[in-house]
Amino acid sequence: MNPAPSPSPEKIARRGLMLVLSSPSGAGKSTIARNLLDEDRSLGISISVTTRAKRPSEIAGKHYHFITVPQFEKMRDAGDLLEWAEVHGNFYGTPREPVEQAMAEGRDMLFDIDWQGARQLQEKMKADVVSIFVLPPTMTELQSRLHRRAEDTEEVIRTRLLNSRAEIEHWREYDYVIVNDDLDEAFGHVSCIVNAERIRRDRRYGLFDFVEGLLQEEPKL
Ligand code: 5GP
Repeated sequence: MNPAPSPSPEKIARRGLMLVLSSPSGAGKSTIARNLLDEDRSLGISISVTTRAKRPSEIAGKHYHFITVPQFEKMRDAGDLLEWAEVHGNFYGTPREPVEQAMAEGRDMLFDIDWQGARQLQEKMKADVVSIFVLPPTMTELQSRLHRRAEDTEEVIRTRLLNSRAEIEHWREYDYVIVNDDLDEAFGHVSCIVNAERIRRDRRYGLFDFVEGLLQEEPKL
C-alpha cells in the first residue's frame, strides 16, 4: 500500500493570525480592511461593540454592534471583552468569544482598533498578533478625507483631527508602518504582509509532521 500523500506545503496546519490595523481616522484603514476582506474570503473580521451613534451608512451587526453605555459596562465587567478603550469620547471593545473561537479553529481575524486596543492584544496574544499602522501622506490630506466622508459633524471632525496626532505618536508600537499615499499600493503592502506572516515557521505547528513525512520518503534512485 502506498503511504498517505504528504500535505501540500500551503495547507500545513498553523495557528490563526490576528491582524491588527490602526490609523488615525481618515487615513484609509477601513478601505484597506474592506479590500482585504473582499479579496480573501478566509479572513474574518472582529465586529466591535461601540457606544457611539450609528452613521447613516453603517449597518448594525455588520460594522459594529451598537450598544448603550450600561450594556457596554456589563460586558466589560463580565470579562466578555478581549480589549476595550475609550476613543473620541465613546467606548469601543472587542467581544472575546468570536475571537477565541476563530483562534481555536486556526482562522485568521482582522481587527480595526486603535492603539490602546492594539497594545492590549499584543500583551495578551503576543506572537499571534501582527500589527500594521497606516499613516496619511500629509495632515492636510487627512483633514480633507475626513471632510469628504461627510458623515460626521464639524465638531466630531475637529475632535478626530485633534486626536489623530495622539494616535500617530504610537506608530513605533507596530510591526509594520504603511503610508497610504496611493490606495492600491498601500493595499498591496498589506496583502504581502498577510501572505508572508501566514508562512512564518513559528506559526505552522503542522510543519513538524510535514518534515517528518518528507524525511521518511524513500528516494527513488
Ligand atoms: P470609528 O468611530 O471611526 O468607527 O472608530 C474610531 C476609532 O475606534 C478607530 O480608530 C477604530 O479603529 C477604533 N475602534 C473601533 N473598534 C474598536 C475596538 O473594539 N477597540 C478599540 N480599542 N478601538 C476600536
